[in-house]
Amino acid sequence: MAEIHGSIWAVRCTGCGAEREERDDFAELPPRCAACGGLLRPGVVWFGETLPPGPSGAAMEVLSRCEVLIVAGTSAVVSPASGYAAVAKRRGARVIEVNPDETPVSGICDAAFRGTSEEVLPALLG
Ligand SMILES: [Zn+2]
Repeated sequence: MAEIHGSIWAVRCTGCGAEREERDDFAELPPRCAACGGLLRPGVVWFGETLPPGPSGAAMEVLSRCEVLIVAGTSAVVSPASGYAAVAKRRGARVIEVNPDETPVSGICDAAFRGTSEEVLPALLG
């Protein structure tokens, strides 16, 4: 799995940059870093921030060797994820779209299931 936009289950210190998984409620608000006292923020990418290179590289590596790519629940308009279907297709993968509506990648998909991820994925993968 490559979490290109980070994880909602991670927190990152705005002071020292330390990051860790956090699944419990915070003892105090606002939450602060135990090491430096800096404010903690969610470990996700916000608009205008750069994607972390590690997960993005991992995603490209998976795209280079996958046989089937399921594009589910995305409008396919925000780069770089919007380009992942084309990358996989160029490298020989079958691309399947799961979305109630057509998207900019619909034209290159080998198959499309028009419905929500909640409706389609259990039937497709079950
Ligand atoms: Zn810190």
